[in-house]
Amino acid sequence: MQGETKTHSAGSVQVCQNCKKNFTIEPEDFNFYEKIKVPPPTFCPECRTVRRLAWRNEMSLFKRKCDAPGHEEMLISFLSPEEKLIVYDSNSWWGDSWDPLSYGKEYNFEKSFFEQWRDLRNIVPIQCLSNIKATNSDYCNVAENTKDSYMCSGTWKVERTLYSNRVSETKDSSDLYVVYRSELCYDDIFCSDCYHTFYSLNCKSCVDSYFLYDCVGCTDCFGCSNLRTKSYCMWNEQLSKEEYFHRLAEYNLKDYRTILELKKNFKELYLKSLHRFAVQIKVANSTGDNLEGTKNCKICFDANGRIEDTKYSHWMAIGVKDAYDSGPGMGLIELSYESFDTGIGGFRNLFTSVVYGSNDIEYSFNCHGCSNLFGCIGLRSKKYCILNKQYTKEEYEKLIPKIKEQMNKVPYVDKRGIIYKYGEFFPAEFSTFGYNETQAQDYFPISKEQATKMGYRWRDRKINEYQITIESKDLSASLDEVKNSVTKEIIGCENKNKSSNYCRGAYKITLDELNLYRKLGVPLPRLCFMCRHENRLKMRNPMKLWHRKCMCDKKNHFHGTGKCAVEFETSYAPDKPEIVYCEKCYQQEVY
Ligand SMILES: [Zn+2]
Ligand SMILES: [Zn+2]
Ligand SMILES: [Zn+2]
Ligand SMILES: [Zn+2]
Repeated sequence: MQGETKTHSAGSVQVCQNCKKNFTIEPEDFNFYEKIKVPPPTFCPECRTVRRLAWRNEMSLFKRKCDAPGHEEMLISFLSPEEKLIVYDSNSWWGDSWDPLSYGKEYNFEKSFFEQWRDLRNIVPIQCLSNIKATNSDYCNVAENTKDSYMCSGTWKVERTLYSNRVSETKDSSDLYVVYRSELCYDDIFCSDCYHTFYSLNCKSCVDSYFLYDCVGCTDCFGCSNLRTKSYCMWNEQLSKEEYFHRLAEYNLKDYRTILELKKNFKELYLKSLHRFAVQIKVANSTGDNLEGTKNCKICFDANGRIEDTKYSHWMAIGVKDAYDSGPGMGLIELSYESFDTGIGGFRNLFTSVVYGSNDIEYSFNCHGCSNLFGCIGLRSKKYCILNKQYTKEEYEKLIPKIKEQMNKVPYVDKRGIIYKYGEFFPAEFSTFGYNETQAQDYFPISKEQATKMGYRWRDRKINEYQITIESKDLSASLDEVKNSVTKEIIGCENKNKSSNYCRGAYKITLDELNLYRKLGVPLPRLCFMCRHENRLKMRNPMKLWHRKCMCDKKNHFHGTGKCAVEFETSYAPDKPEIVYCEKCYQQEVY
């Protein structure tokens, strides 16, 4: 059932088709929909993000046979072997031994567009991983310009980086989440321009440091928070250089038990620290969190670069203008709606994924260097195609309005009765992934029961296929005692018997990885890579905003003896224990 529209001066209140809750479409939103000629959405902003993310699998990898003619080899792919799809190795996919247009279909005006698109998707070869210029990085998905890396995803220009997600320009590092331009780093979250910095959160330009939260420009600091350009501080106490190194030497940082203890202390320090209502650097007229360089952006998250006039979007970099409901994975894009993984360079792309360097594309997947496509899959350097069939410019321009009209007359109706006309992203039930294999689970985690109830797909993970040769608790506690032979073991993850949507049950340590641990001086992990990723995700706030008040009651601030009355949009939920300050109070305390 379509939601009813009530017009208010503040906008129009609509009932979300998916969650049945009310949401508001603002006047500025209508302007955008008008500009790109799409009808207003029928899903609320959060349900739209979830629907898109249910199509985005960055980290779940499988082995499946290569379907390219004459090929028999096993591939690493983001597509499960249970999916009846045609999957090619990257070389074959990019080669000219196959013609994507040979799969072209005449548009059928009797059948819903979404079903016709799904049928085409099921027969056109798909590249095994969403990679471009990935060298010696077979286990890296959604990786661009990535070299000698392993189990990294959502990466751009990384080298010798392991087990990381959403990182760019990193080197010789492991276990990072949303980290930019950093080197010799380990287990960091939301850090940039750091060097040899470990177990840290929300830091910038820090060097040779451990367990820092919200520090900028610090060198040789340990267990500190809210510091600016300091050296030789330990647990927020200024020490002399000699004292600092003397105390540092007392910690055996190569011992797993020490790190566990320090992580507990760090958590306490984090809770006692001041928290800025949002991390916003050089930001104008914007709401959201983890923003740097944004202007007129609303409800955006994890954006870094020149990002303007954008709403309901996340994980963007370089330059984005006029985008709604876009991301993850956006760079140098203008006019984008309900799109993700756009690569670098694109204009007026609506309802697309993995469409790079293209313009005027709608409802297409895995296309490169194209223009004027509708409902296409796997095309390179093509224009005026519909469902992979070539048309002339004139034919194309005549047909497109007819198809959009037909999409409204013959919509797709899913199992739950949700109606998909022109203007909706692809139904999640057509996704090639289980909800739990996608970034939807990272950012909007739900149980199998909830997912099934909402009509999302789910795929139980097979974890018993590994023959565990050692339990993680039996590994040497200290890195110094670890022998190269550990690379032959299949290690049981500490969480393997806990019911977890993430745990892979077992993991291996590669020789490159062991050498990196030795270089960095960090002990072997006791958890599998996905459990470690899940722990890092727990340290971030959700991509949601709450309207709250500053919690500051400091007497020496601009608000005098009373409590600060400043209000803001924050990603700290009201029931969170953190002390949350407005920008002014935070600046007064921290700088
Ligand atoms: Zn909703
Ligand atoms: Zn695990
Ligand atoms: Zn305040
Ligand atoms: Zn204050």
